[in-house]
Amino acid sequence: MDLLTYLDENRASVLQTLADLHDMPEASEKEFKTSACLARRLEECGYDVRSGVGGTTGVIGILDSGQPGPCVGIRADMDALLYEVDGEIVASHACGHDANCTEVLSAAQAIAACGGVKKGRLLVIFQPAEEVASGALALLKSGELNGLEYLVGTHLRPKQELPMGKILPSLRHAASGFMFGDITGTGAHGARPHLGANAAEAAAAAVFAINSVHVDPLVPHSAKVTMIRCGGNSLNVIPEKAEIGVDMRAQTNAIMDDLKTRVEAAIKAGAAMCGASAVCRWKTGCPAAQDSEEMVEIAQRAIVEALGEEALAPCATTSGGEDFHYYAQGIPGLKTTVIGIGADLTPGLHVRGMTFNTEAVISAAKVLALMVKSLLG
Ligand SMILES: [Zn+2]
Ligand SMILES: [Zn+2]
Repeated sequence: MDLLTYLDENRASVLQTLADLHDMPEASEKEFKTSACLARRLEECGYDVRSGVGGTTGVIGILDSGQPGPCVGIRADMDALLYEVDGEIVASHACGHDANCTEVLSAAQAIAACGGVKKGRLLVIFQPAEEVASGALALLKSGELNGLEYLVGTHLRPKQELPMGKILPSLRHAASGFMFGDITGTGAHGARPHLGANAAEAAAAAVFAINSVHVDPLVPHSAKVTMIRCGGNSLNVIPEKAEIGVDMRAQTNAIMDDLKTRVEAAIKAGAAMCGASAVCRWKTGCPAAQDSEEMVEIAQRAIVEALGEEALAPCATTSGGEDFHYYAQGIPGLKTTVIGIGADLTPGLHVRGMTFNTEAVISAAKVLALMVKSLLG
């Protein structure tokens, strides 16, 4: 049987997998039931399964042809998001990682049922903790992905960006990160500001300095202050300390490096203008996508073969981040892409109770399975 027929005939079982995973949402780094369920289903169809990868809930299923050939990975993230509902913290699959897991598992099941792979090795990767950007790094550190040459990921897109029936071959996420500035001035009496250095004024000066930072306008980017902490309840005290936080995005890693250097300089200059000083700290979010032309072409061909020419949407850039892109940074020469799935998803990602057309999961599984077949036969 061919992969497309298998997935059509097993439509009900694919949708049941989605329903099962949807009903067991788990927080980042706590995907215990989800990973056990996925590991069991991979074992059932003949994969050699490693659980607890790198001391996390990560799962890798291996299908080895025994023949020389490339090492190809398909990856899904397993974690849900946390929300406060009626005073209680509950997990919910509002980013659609239940769909990502269903697509990857279903593609893996289809490949195993349709004769396996003819050359090289397939790794089916279920990664924990995407939302807190620790999962990909933990799997990289485990060493289990050494030798990986091709890797594809998948994610649902909001309806506004991609309608049902369309799939795009590359989702180009931006780099993201946070700059913190710890500002130290000199405390004084509110009546004698000339004897101190006002940390509140220094923080305000830093905000204005950051707003005057400019990098290459042809590359989408932004740096904006999203947190200021300063002062206490006594308004007649010149505050000594302030802290500011800046959310930063850039479409390439090079522009992010440029932006980081300039924002740090702006914070220090703003503080210095008021007689204060600043120490900066950087917290990386995610690196920018570095998709491979070869993988994008493989995805394009798979989309057309699975769903027809009209389903193929153009590659898209997005200011959102994805820890998937740590893999290309951590494994030299790794060729990657993340396909974007149109599913009429509303009202949006990260909105609790968001819904989408579940048929899109079957289409995505077809594309993933055909991508593997084109590399491993
Ligand atoms: Zn998310
Ligand atoms: Zn997500």
